[in-house]
Amino acid sequence: MDVETREFQSEARQLLQLMIHSIYSNKDTFLRELVSNASDALDKLRLETFRDKDLVADTSDLHIAIEVDADQRTLTVRDNGIGMTHDDVVNLIGTIAKSGTAEFLDRLKQTQDAAASQDLIGQFGIGFYSTFMVADKVTLVTRHPRSTEGVRWESTGEGTYTIEDVADAPQGTAVTLHLKPADAEDHLPDYTSTAKLREIVKRYADFITWPIRMAEGDEGEPQVVNSRKALWARPASEVTEDEYAEFYRHVSHDWNKPLETIRMQAEGTFEYQALLFIPSQAPLDLFMRERKRGVQLYVKRVFIMDDCEELMPEYLRFVKGVVDAQDLSLNVSREILQQDRQIQLMRRRLVKKVLSTVKTMMTEKPEDYETFWREFGAAVKEGLVGDFENRDAILGIASFDSTHDAERKTTLAQYVERMKEDQEHIYYMTGDSRATVENSPHLEALRAKGFEVLVLTDPIDEMWVESVPGFEGKQFQSIAKGQVDLGTDEEKAEVEQRRQDFADLLAWMTEALSEKVKEVRLSTRLTTSPACVVGDAHDLTPTLEKMYRAMGQ
Ligand code: ADP
Ligand code: MG
Repeated sequence: MDVETREFQSEARQLLQLMIHSIYSNKDTFLRELVSNASDALDKLRLETFRDKDLVADTSDLHIAIEVDADQRTLTVRDNGIGMTHDDVVNLIGTIAKSGTAEFLDRLKQTQDAAASQDLIGQFGIGFYSTFMVADKVTLVTRHPRSTEGVRWESTGEGTYTIEDVADAPQGTAVTLHLKPADAEDHLPDYTSTAKLREIVKRYADFITWPIRMAEGDEGEPQVVNSRKALWARPASEVTEDEYAEFYRHVSHDWNKPLETIRMQAEGTFEYQALLFIPSQAPLDLFMRERKRGVQLYVKRVFIMDDCEELMPEYLRFVKGVVDAQDLSLNVSREILQQDRQIQLMRRRLVKKVLSTVKTMMTEKPEDYETFWREFGAAVKEGLVGDFENRDAILGIASFDSTHDAERKTTLAQYVERMKEDQEHIYYMTGDSRATVENSPHLEALRAKGFEVLVLTDPIDEMWVESVPGFEGKQFQSIAKGQVDLGTDEEKAEVEQRRQDFADLLAWMTEALSEKVKEVRLSTRLTTSPACVVGDAHDLTPTLEKMYRAMGQ
């Protein structure tokens, strides 16, 4: 087949422009991305050969090789992993299919501040394209074990790339960078220096379980340059925070530091190790439909699957990391996982561990907790609707806006502690925003009494607050629904008297407004507004009504 010239998809082109005129100060990260991709490709090949016994592939010496040609100023990262078909190359390298790309680019355009853009880019992760920070031309040669021919792809990153089929490509993928001239001023080190490369591998990819080989000096035999130890299998005291952070980047594709690192170890009949991370920032797709869960399953150090939903419930989908189980079969399938009682037990323990870690964070690192709740609270609250077993634990780590303090959120325990002696319920009001709730006439009577009201503005609040029976024996009571009983006996008698006095008027008004409201009645709630509309105790709130309508119900 001939050489074909194709255009990058427009979003890909924009990302490439970003890379070429790079705003990253740390260009070393390109090597981490290439090694990470190579490692993924080796994982995938091993897995494929387990699943498909007919696949013809050589798995006897799976490894990654780094090769330098100082004269040509090229650097090649090679793997003998799964490779890519012609279509893969077009779809994976020429386009960006990640959800949230458009939104990401939009936000990036609006961000003036360089540090903030770095953050955003880090969060998004740009993988392969980061090679264009250090190379003015990139050549990729690859072959998938199911294709007889290989593919050669090449680009300067300027809008187009060439692609052609080639006859003699070895199994796997080789990415060759034609390096830009080293330039100290531009923070561009000399990447033909093997000492430099070894240092980068040590820093960023030491935990990669596949051997990474590199020849140092002109004639030398390639040597393995990484220690290949799975972090979760090493004693916790031996692993540094930097090593955890690097591993976190590898599994999460997030360049920020994790907020919290969680290690777990279970011995006995069902042995496993877990290394989990709570990110410091919510991903852009946290509330999108195609979002993924972040926990990978390994069996005896062998990668089995990404995005293992059997290990983490939906509401903790932001948790990243690895669970390595010793007693599962290597060709375990999703179906088996779903039915496996040990997996269910493991999941319960993982969930409890994550929730208790947040609980500890609340007292020991209150600022981290605030970050956690700001970023992930709306997702965690989904658990109140579905995870009955952990409801109290979730309520225990939740915090809410409240009328007590406009600046700070409150926990339920703090709310209960402030409750007035004659106050029976935990009062709340839901709405689109704090402002809507604050301006609501419903608040007036409670304000007058000095009762605190929780201000619930996340869509999910409507759902859980209806189904959760209470907290520490106190029921949740909406102030916008039914009769909020605030009075003493004396006050009640007075109200009853007034109700009788106004009975005729109220009956007439109910009749006159019958198309619009169910009933007109006197209220004790208002102190300054003349009238307000309230829902019945069993009616849907306006926001919930909107949500159901949006879901087509
Ligand atoms: P990510 O790794 O986050 O998916 P990348 O830009 O690093 O994003 O890579 C895009 C895709 O290209 C990968 O998901 C993978 O499917 C494919 N790919 C990249 N490098 C390799 C490789 N060495 N072998 C096989 N596939 C690769
Ligand atoms: Mg990658």
